[in-house]
Amino acid sequence: MEKFMHAIQFAAYKHRFQKRKDPDQTPYINHPIGVAHILSNEVGVNDFDILAAALLHDTIEDTQTTFDELQQEFGPRIAGIVAELTDDKNLPKAERKRLQIANADKLSSDAVIVRLADKIYNLRDLNRCTPVGWSAERVKEYFEWSSKIVPQLFGHNTQLDTILKELFLQKNIRF
Ligand code: NDP
Ligand code: ZN
Repeated sequence: MEKFMHAIQFAAYKHRFQKRKDPDQTPYINHPIGVAHILSNEVGVNDFDILAAALLHDTIEDTQTTFDELQQEFGPRIAGIVAELTDDKNLPKAERKRLQIANADKLSSDAVIVRLADKIYNLRDLNRCTPVGWSAERVKEYFEWSSKIVPQLFGHNTQLDTILKELFLQKNIRF
């Protein structure tokens, strides 16, 4: 519990200046908290390392946080999950998107669980409202891109799989 509370505090501090892309400019920290909430409250995940990794999953990618810092603060398991979920921002965006599809089947089971909840949160967010500057076509393309990753990750958690299948079904996306 101590490490988990530290993860809340750490993530809130690191993301403190960031906003989501929705028109209300929601505080970014709502997203990692929401991902951890899906896992604990909708799916019954009670592994505190996985819940802490959910809280921290965007810190390396989107803030100044380093892998070494996470390892020092939270240990190798949590830092390892976050590292697996971090895109290489030195690569062009299209390549990062391609690699998420190509490397999906290489994720550990721990990382898969967090990745699936991350996708659920983002797809629900897109259903809730369209990000500033996005066309309906871009939203559709995001769902289609996600549908190339998510099915590769099925089989680790039945409840997460069911939520995602329903989200794609609502958009008439089949895989
Ligand atoms: P982005 O990667 O730019 O944006 C989506 C990411 O933003 C999410 O994965 C999420 O990441 C984060 N995010 C922050 N706020 C929100 C929110 N309110 N709702 C959902 N996600 C949020 O999107 P893409 O570039 O992938 O665009 C979608 C599709 O549209 C692509 O497949 C692309 O082909 C196409 N397209 C892209 C254009 C471009 O300029 N990139 C232009 C036109 C079309 P996190 O979990 O890390 O917060
Ligand atoms: Zn995320």
